[in-house]
Amino acid sequence: MFKDRESFKHEYVDKLIKSEGVLLEEATQWNKYVALVGLLRETVISYQAIAKKHEVAAKQVYYFSMEFLMGRLLKYYLINLGIEDLVRVGLNDLGIDLYDLLEQEKDPGLGNGGLGRLAACFMDSMAFLGINGHGNGIRYKYGMFDQRIINGYQHEVADDWLSKGFPWETRKPDQAVVVKFKGNVQVEVLEGKLQFKHENYEPVIAMPYDVPIMSYQNTATINTLRLWSAEPVPLELDLESFNRGEFQSVSRSTVESISYVLYPDDSSQTGKELRLKQEYFFVAAGLGSIVRTFKEKKVPWSDFTRWVAIHINDTHPTLCIPELMRIFIDEEGLAWEEAWKITVNTISFTNHTILPEALESWPIAMFRNFLPRIFMIVEEIERRFLETLHQRFPGEEKLILKTRIFCDGQVNMANLAVIGCSSINGVAALHTNILVQQTFKEFHRIFGYKFNNKTNGVNHRRFLLAANPSLSRLITESIGPSWIEDWSQLKNLQAFQQDRSFLKQLSAVKHRNKLQLIHLIKEKQDIILDPFSLFDVQVKRIHAYKRQLLNVLKIMHLYNLLQDNPSSLNQSYTFILGGKAAPGYYYAKTVIKLIHALARKLRQDPLAEQYLTVVFLENFNVSVGEIVYPAADVSEQISTASKEASGTGNMKFMMNGAVTLGTLDGANVEILDSVGQENMFVFGLNAQEVLRYYERQNYRSWDIYQANPEVHRVVDQLINGFFNEEQSEEFRMIYDSLLLYNDEFFVLHDFAAYIDAFKKLREAHMHQEKWNQMSLINIANSGKFSSDRAIREYGEAIWKV
Ligand SMILES: *Cc1c(COP(=O)(O)O)cnc(C)c1O
Repeated sequence: MFKDRESFKHEYVDKLIKSEGVLLEEATQWNKYVALVGLLRETVISYQAIAKKHEVAAKQVYYFSMEFLMGRLLKYYLINLGIEDLVRVGLNDLGIDLYDLLEQEKDPGLGNGGLGRLAACFMDSMAFLGINGHGNGIRYKYGMFDQRIINGYQHEVADDWLSKGFPWETRKPDQAVVVKFKGNVQVEVLEGKLQFKHENYEPVIAMPYDVPIMSYQNTATINTLRLWSAEPVPLELDLESFNRGEFQSVSRSTVESISYVLYPDDSSQTGKELRLKQEYFFVAAGLGSIVRTFKEKKVPWSDFTRWVAIHINDTHPTLCIPELMRIFIDEEGLAWEEAWKITVNTISFTNHTILPEALESWPIAMFRNFLPRIFMIVEEIERRFLETLHQRFPGEEKLILKTRIFCDGQVNMANLAVIGCSSINGVAALHTNILVQQTFKEFHRIFGYKFNNKTNGVNHRRFLLAANPSLSRLITESIGPSWIEDWSQLKNLQAFQQDRSFLKQLSAVKHRNKLQLIHLIKEKQDIILDPFSLFDVQVKRIHAYKRQLLNVLKIMHLYNLLQDNPSSLNQSYTFILGGKAAPGYYYAKTVIKLIHALARKLRQDPLAEQYLTVVFLENFNVSVGEIVYPAADVSEQISTASKEASGTGNMKFMMNGAVTLGTLDGANVEILDSVGQENMFVFGLNAQEVLRYYERQNYRSWDIYQANPEVHRVVDQLINGFFNEEQSEEFRMIYDSLLLYNDEFFVLHDFAAYIDAFKKLREAHMHQEKWNQMSLINIANSGKFSSDRAIREYGEAIWKV
């Protein structure tokens, strides 16, 4: 790497000429950005070349995920390489502002939210911990849409992130894989063995694009994120077999549609053909390349599990199970029993949700048509599974019904995943308990040993070190820099609880971060916020179960308090909400409109304006998150208990010193364990109570509406002209969800407790020093929510690396 500033400048100018073909004076900002990325990428892959020598002697982990929400890489890689200052000053000498180049970078939105971001955090922690861990995903031409708000309504703009190219990636045509769809399977007996021949299929080329993954100052492990893009097979490539009719030609657009766009809905599955194609596409491509690499080792198949671990992030890559069986049996000639043993022992699975609408299943006819050979294998998996069930649990029809793969004309992917892997983990202690006791109760009787918990974590180097440099500096000045590499060191901050000067600095850091967020909002949305008000933030996907509505009703209630008594609030509050709604999710889009209607109402009222501000943060994504998490005083984590499997936003807020206002859901439970009752505001039904209500069906939202005048008032305001006449019918569907449809997510039930908790929070915030202590205790106890902790657990207990 660059010895010093001068050698960096020399290499950089040289790079501009050689790769962009321009002299410094002529170069555009984009040229300058691409040249800088090019230099870093070359540096990182040269480390990779050296590291590869050791890699062959180590077990490889392959992490399959439909989504990788990586965030921007440039600034992060400068930090990881330890050259941020050198490069900034060097560029400055050349008349270039590093900030301008950082702004050139697109934020690759190849994910919806928490699940995709988790995969990205895990990629970092694997590289950090020296685990050879490779991501496998899809290189969507269009990622998550950009959200524009016009008149309070969400509009979706296609995310053409590749239009100018993505300079971090390298196309690897020599490692392409052919993936086969449709067609028919001929069964023949050859030398006493069944042979399966796939004919008349539609071939698609899976083209890999590799992004090198390097974590903090670890040049010994450089991993790869491999994203697959679909391309048509050039006919001339294999004209003979085409002429023999072995495969069908498919139109370019049909092929390319496979990796065209990310499904922008993270909480329901529609059973769409294209989605099934996407899933098989990247599974077959990834496994094809894994097996090819393994075969270079020239060791027996029985060693496969010793060298390879395959992890499937949610059920989307579940086809790994039958596809690996297909490769072993059809291509490598293994017997079923041996293939099955290797497959099960190699694959592990993370469940991410218990929302019934999110559990994947495919119509059998569609599945059989697209994947004829895979379908046969899944049938055989089920046949053998049922055989053992009938032996072990004779006469237990309910057990069989609940664990079958084929049911009601559908292929149930979660059941296939549980049957075909060696480990199933939930993502927070509470979630894992619900899996074991409810969702997979029957499976737990059969395969109790497979179930385990791995509480999620986030990359504290991205969301604290890189996103919050002011706080990072304060922490390092106080306890030294070891926390960057060892999350457990953050605990040492606890010693500063009584240190007035430290607490003052902590509060100054928060103020500075608020100013940055204010600057962003001013630039992007032309709204000016007050840095001295309390910043109460809820940023995440918009979903009924996440209950942004409850937050809105709370703010409406505060407004009502103010109307009744102008001196009822003695400080000012800024409520920041942000997040995308799935394009077809009408309710969520109406909630966005409601937030805007409320924001306007408050702006137009001179009294309210002094105390209450609502802003909707447009286009929430990783880059926006990196500015908003550090600026929050309060972290709103108010999902209906049992619904949020873990949450990771909650952890990012916590490590940046926000105090959580939340329900006992997901990892909030563990945050409470870490910080104690005095340092978190908890309210509402717990998961057991929610599940009991569902079971007994004895919740009546109408009764609460009738009994609580404050609830009555805010609910009526949704439709009584409060938001002005023309809009009064617009929020009828929200009103109906609460009363006519009996408030599925217990918004009205938890309203009073929420208001009460917020009141306590308001009082606590009046005592500055006490509040800063709470903030400090949250930071000091956030270490265990680092993805380094999570990945160490995965590595030891699941992947055995
Ligand atoms: C962390 C993160 C999420 C997940 O947030 P939750 O509050 O856990 O739902 C979603 N989107 C982005 C961009 C994130 O960074």
